[in-house]
Order: sequence, then structure tokens, then C-alpha cells
Amino acid sequence: MAIRIVRKEGDDVLRKQCKPVKEITNSVLQLIEDMKDTMYQSDGVGLAAPQIGILKQIVVIDDREGGEFALINPKIVKTEGEQESCEGCLSLPGFRGTVMRPEKVTVEAIFPDGNEYTIEAEGFLAVIMCHEIDHLSGILYKDKAVVYERIPEEDK
Ligand code: ZN
Repeated sequence: MAIRIVRKEGDDVLRKQCKPVKEITNSVLQLIEDMKDTMYQSDGVGLAAPQIGILKQIVVIDDREGGEFALINPKIVKTEGEQESCEGCLSLPGFRGTVMRPEKVTVEAIFPDGNEYTIEAEGFLAVIMCHEIDHLSGILYKDKAVVYERIPEEDK
């Protein structure tokens, strides 16, 4: 296992467009393992590859049931409804924001087994997917936030 350094706002790598993964090699699978380790080490619920300086379309997401999964070349193909979410980001430590997100999303992605799946998510899981997939286009939640503020000392 390897913990990678999480890039912080101001690092150009967070603002770049990521490239699709062409082939699931051992190094891609190793990268996914490192991303999971780094996510848990940092107490995050999701992590995108550019956050550790890798411009590939890969995200890892905490499934909210004690496990996690990775999505390769994920695309949001359908959204439904709207919800207000309170978000933070490992790349923007000490801040939080309120973002309007879809209530439900349908995502197409390749799983580490090499197969393509269509998955549906709602509620908080839909928020995490939108947040992480935005990272792959160089978008940070603060760009979309209706409120963006430093976390007050008493809430930490
Ligand atoms: Zn983030």
C-alpha cells in the first residue's frame, strides 16, 4: 500500500482535463489501490486521480456501506431532480461549501474488471459522484458553490 500526497488548490494539476484510460494495466490497478489508501488515510469519501497528480479519468468512491469502488472513464449520462449539498474537498482543506447537485445520477463507467457498467446513485452518493467526476475536468466544487466559506473553529 502506498499513500500519495494530495494536491492542494493552487496546484495546476487540479485544473487540467484528464485523459481516458485506454487499457487497464497493472499500474492502473495499483494506482486505484493507492487512491483508496490515500482516501481513507485522509478521511475522505472520494478521491479523483488528479488530486494525487495523475491526469487520468479515475475516481474512487466510498460506497457508504463500509466498502469502496473505483470508476474508470466515468460519464454522467442522466441526471434527475436537484438537492442542496454541503461539501468539502481534500484539495481545499479547511473550507466548505453549499452546492446544488442532481438528486439522482446515471453514470456509465468501466470497472477495474474491465467491463462497462451503468450505475445509478441518489442522495449523498450522487453528490460524491458528481464532485469526483467534476475533478476529471478540472472543476472544483467551489466553482459551483452558492456558499463557500472557511470552516469555523467550533465546527472542526
Ligand atoms: Zn474534491
